[in-house]
Amino acid sequence: MSVLSTEPLSRHSTIRIGGPAERFALPSSMEELLHVLDLVDRGALPGPVRFVGNGSNLLFPDAGLPGTTISLKRMTRFRILPDGSIDADAGTYLPRLAFRAAREGWDGLGFLSGIPGTLGGGIVMNAGTRDGEIGNILEKVRLLDPKGRLHTLDRSEIAFSYRSSPFQSASSGDDRTPWSGYAIVGAVLRAVPGEHAGLMQEWNALRKERARSQPLDCPSLGSVFRNPVPHAAGRLIDQSGWKGRSFGGIQVSALHGNFFVNMGNGTASEFCHLMSLVRKAVFDAAGVCLDPEVETVPAVL
Ligand SMILES: Cc1cc2nc3c(=O)[nH]c(=O)nc-3n(C[C@H](O)[C@H](O)[C@H](O)COP(=O)(O)OP(=O)(O)OC[C@H]3O[C@@H](n4cnc5c(N)ncnc54)[C@H](O)[C@@H]3O)c2cc1C
Repeated sequence: MSVLSTEPLSRHSTIRIGGPAERFALPSSMEELLHVLDLVDRGALPGPVRFVGNGSNLLFPDAGLPGTTISLKRMTRFRILPDGSIDADAGTYLPRLAFRAAREGWDGLGFLSGIPGTLGGGIVMNAGTRDGEIGNILEKVRLLDPKGRLHTLDRSEIAFSYRSSPFQSASSGDDRTPWSGYAIVGAVLRAVPGEHAGLMQEWNALRKERARSQPLDCPSLGSVFRNPVPHAAGRLIDQSGWKGRSFGGIQVSALHGNFFVNMGNGTASEFCHLMSLVRKAVFDAAGVCLDPEVETVPAVL
């Protein structure tokens, strides 16, 4: 297993921003994950610990992160059982899971086809689209507590809401949540029988629609702000006059106002500054206060 020193976090975030992680571990099994946690416990690796997935919703700091950052994106085993339940490791890539389910004739996961995150990160964010969200197809979540003990939570014990779950901030050791310091290590999802050809058609249509409406050729973190129901954040940003404008190396995408893209040499501080400029402009123009969906990681925990 790799435990890397001063690993650039920019390599582990889809917006390609972030300074060095003091240590960065990529376990590919439960045994390896437990081994890393044991090394931290014995002082052989530095704390604090932070769990991440594919970094598709994380803005890492320019200064990097102290302690040991653990990405579960190599823990990728999953199986689809004959009754339609899907038992998957936390690092399973959501589009891969959705594709496999569709190919094998299982319906209900199509909305995950364009979300470039892992199952663990998807559960933390209650990731989804207007067609569905992870909380709706979840049956159980497997968690590892800071002492290395496994717990299984039933869906009925978890209060999900729009892009929100009780696991948010838990991975950073934030003690305002009961899951502080817990890792999501796996989950059971539920699919329903469908028809292979129709599901593959839906898959292709969803991917095409994303490519048409989102700047997928530039590094980004997807939607920067949650939609302030009943409004769409992208439309409000568009109306505020910020679509296509930039600050430093970060641009408000000209294609989709709620996506900020890295033009090549953007930094986390520029991204944050652009967020505050856009929030102020939207508030001045529409009286709406936008709530960030992207998670900004502080340099000092
Ligand atoms: C082009 C693009 C399109 C997108 N479209 C959508 C969309 O349609 N809908 C949507 O909801 N999101 C979308 N996103 C955002 C993002 O993909 C989702 O939020 C995704 O669920 C994040 O998963 P991740 O594995 O990348 O998590 P990360 O960004 O790595 O982490 C997110 C949070 O989860 C925590 N975390 C991650 N894994 C674990 C774990 N195993 N245990 C404990 N904590 C963990 C992290 O510490 C962090 O707090 C998009 C992003 C991009 C770049």
